[in-house]
Amino acid sequence: MEVSREQEIQQIEAEGAPHVVILGAGASYAAFPYGDKNGHKLPLMNNFVETLGIEELVNKSGLSFSSTNFEDIYSSIYAAPELIDLRTELEEVVYAYFQEMELPDTPTIYDHLVLSLRKKDFIATFNWDPFLVQAIRRNGQHFNLPRPIFLHGNVAVGYCKSGHMMGNSGALCSFCGERLVNTPLLYPVAEKGYQNEEFISRQWGTLEAQLKRAFMVTIFGYGAPASDTAAIELLKNAWGSPDSRNMEEFEIIDIRNEQELVDTWSPFIHSHHYQVEGIFYDSWIANHPRRTGEAYLNHFYYAKFIENNPLPKDAGFEGLWDWFEKLQQVEDTKSK
Ligand SMILES: [Zn+2]
Repeated sequence: MEVSREQEIQQIEAEGAPHVVILGAGASYAAFPYGDKNGHKLPLMNNFVETLGIEELVNKSGLSFSSTNFEDIYSSIYAAPELIDLRTELEEVVYAYFQEMELPDTPTIYDHLVLSLRKKDFIATFNWDPFLVQAIRRNGQHFNLPRPIFLHGNVAVGYCKSGHMMGNSGALCSFCGERLVNTPLLYPVAEKGYQNEEFISRQWGTLEAQLKRAFMVTIFGYGAPASDTAAIELLKNAWGSPDSRNMEEFEIIDIRNEQELVDTWSPFIHSHHYQVEGIFYDSWIANHPRRTGEAYLNHFYYAKFIENNPLPKDAGFEGLWDWFEKLQQVEDTKSK
């Protein structure tokens, strides 16, 4: 018994449960190892100050730091109340740096990722960069796409103070006409305060609700840093204990070694129901685009052999959209 590529394309069965993807800095780094459209590099925590060129600003604090890790530097500045002006200036520079980042004109991992999931699915990102939003914007004119969740705030997103909606930063609320305010960015300090910011707290609420319903969770490039134990705790509570979930699959896309990843994510992994991939294009998502739930059912529930249907990763936008068009047509027809 085998399910062919064509049969997978024609099958719509998993409308009830979402695939939830969680993105960390490693996902953006994997997408743009050499920088964005204009060559702006994505900073990592240990080269953040150098990459953004904010050495002088940081030195103005007069503090000495235990390392060059931005987490340590920011935490020290944050802990000194007299440096509030400097901290505000620093945050503005960081915001502006990320806000200027742009997707290249050719398809990227971000385009492939958003095209490969359906409207019932969710992509929750820890990243401040605007790539997920830009990818949804440029592919969303042609396709029904997954919904984004912003776990640490995002430079491309604004929200209505009265809680009506979130949308593009700087746009007007379509309900009350007020200008959307920028989302706060959550900085790397031990005391994150996920519940203090209304916007962020709502985002986590959405993630929690969706994780409870999810048939599969994919963690892409999220290192679960020690300074973010609150995030892991929230994820753990939302997911429930591995024993209380008997079938769901957990997928990790990460370049770190498997044992390290399994140690990090053991509270989430139910016996053998996990897989680790080094690159996005080996993932369940890239090999069963827009049918991850159906492929999951065929493989794990009906115990059939399944053929992969890898997305055309080297195609330009025209070819890419043509290829995905066939999948969406089946969805449009069958969900009527
Ligand atoms: Zn409003």
